[in-house]
Amino acid sequence: NTPLHELDPDVAAAVDAELHRQQSTLEMIASENFAPVAVMEAQGSVLTNKYAEGYPGRRYYGGCEHVDVAEQIAIDRVKDLFGAEYANVQPHSGASANQAALFAMAQPGDTILGLDLAHGGHLTHGMRLNFSGKQFDVVAYHVDEAGLVDMAEVERLAKEHRPKVIIAGWSAYPRRLDFAEFRRIADEVEAYLWVDMAHFAGLVAAGLHPNPVEYADVVTSTTHKTLGGPRGGIILAKKEFAKKLNSSVFPGFQGGPLEHVIAAKAVSFKVAASEEFKERQQRTLDGARILAERLTQADVAEHGVSVLSGGTDVHLVLVDLRNSELDGQQAEDRLHEVGITVNRNAIPNDPRPPMVTSGLRIGTPALATRGFGAEDFAEVADVIAETLKPGFDAEALKARVTALAEKHPLYPGLK
Ligand code: PLP
Repeated sequence: NTPLHELDPDVAAAVDAELHRQQSTLEMIASENFAPVAVMEAQGSVLTNKYAEGYPGRRYYGGCEHVDVAEQIAIDRVKDLFGAEYANVQPHSGASANQAALFAMAQPGDTILGLDLAHGGHLTHGMRLNFSGKQFDVVAYHVDEAGLVDMAEVERLAKEHRPKVIIAGWSAYPRRLDFAEFRRIADEVEAYLWVDMAHFAGLVAAGLHPNPVEYADVVTSTTHKTLGGPRGGIILAKKEFAKKLNSSVFPGFQGGPLEHVIAAKAVSFKVAASEEFKERQQRTLDGARILAERLTQADVAEHGVSVLSGGTDVHLVLVDLRNSELDGQQAEDRLHEVGITVNRNAIPNDPRPPMVTSGLRIGTPALATRGFGAEDFAEVADVIAETLKPGFDAEALKARVTALAEKHPLYPGLK
C-alpha cells in the first residue's frame, strides 16, 4: 500500500508537474476537458483489477457481480442521455469505437465516404495510414470555398461510388452538419449512415446541438471531449445492430473491458444529464462565439488573421493564418509562451507543410469547465488577438493569463 510519491517519485514528479501545468495555464485544445474528481476517483478505483470479458450478465469470468452493476448503469444512462436504443460502453477509445463500428457495417474492400482529413475529418474516417484507409476503399468529400461541407459533392460522390457507409463527423470543423440531408443521401444510395459525434457529444447531451441518434444507423463518440468524462469511446445504435456491434467490440477487437473506465463513464453520464452541465455547455458555445468575433476584428484582420467560415456554432474556432506572416507552428509557440495551449491545424488547401500548417484550432470546453463566463472569454480572446499581432508583449500577456487562471482555480483540493 505504499503511496505513489514513495514508491515511484519519478513518475509522481511527472504527474505533479502535469497537474501544475493544467492549473497554471489556459487549456484551449478543442478535444480536451477536465474530468470531475469523482470521475477520476472511479477511474482510479479497484475496478481496474477485474477481468470481465463479455457483457453484463453474460461474462466469461466469475466475480463480475459488481462490475456488472457499474457497466449496466453506464449503458442505461448513456441510452437515456442520447435517446439511443442500444449502447456499448466498452470501446477503449474513440478510434477503437470507430474501428468496431466500421467493421460491423462493412467488410474490408467496401467503399466508405468520409470528410477528408485535410478538410477537418478524423484519421479513422479513411486516412491513408489508418486501418480505415488501408482496408477500405475510401472516397473523400470536402468543404467548399465558404468552409462549409459541400453537400452537393457528398450527393454526387455517393451516387457515383455507392458507398457501403457514409461518415458524418469531424475533428476540426466549426459548424453543424446537416444530418437530415446526410440521411436522405444515404437512403438514396442504400448506404449506412454513421455519425462520429466525438467532438460535439457534450453539446448534444445538453440539447444545444441536433442529436445525430435520430438520423444515423450508428453513432460513435469519445467520452473525454465536450462530454467531459474519462478517456474512452462509446457506440450507440438502433436495436438491430446490437448483436453485430457487441461482437465487433468483443471478441472482434477487444479483450477484457476497462471496468474502472466504464464506471467513470457512468459517473460522467450522470453529470452530463444535469442542469449544471447544460449551463456549462452554453458557456462553452458562448466562449467560442466571443473568440470568433474577436478574431475577425480589424486590428487582427490587418495582420492576415481570420476565422474559417467566418465564425462558429460549436465549441471551437479555426483560425486561418494563410495571409499572416505567422504560420501555425509559430502561432502555437507564441500562445504557449503566454500560457495558452492550443494546437496548430492544417486548414483546407493549406499551402504550408503538415508539420507547420497555416491554422490554429482553439476550443473552449476546458475553460468552461473551469468556470469561465462571457467576461473571462472576452479577456482570453483579447489576449489571443494581441498575441497574434506583431510586437506582442509576452510578459504582460502572460500576467493576464495568470490572473485568469487564478480567478478560476482548477482542482483546488489537489496538490
Ligand atoms: N473521432 C473524432 C471525430 C475525433 O476527433 C477523435 C479524436 O480526436 C477520435 C474519433 C478518436 O478518439 P481517440 O483519440 O480517443 O482514439
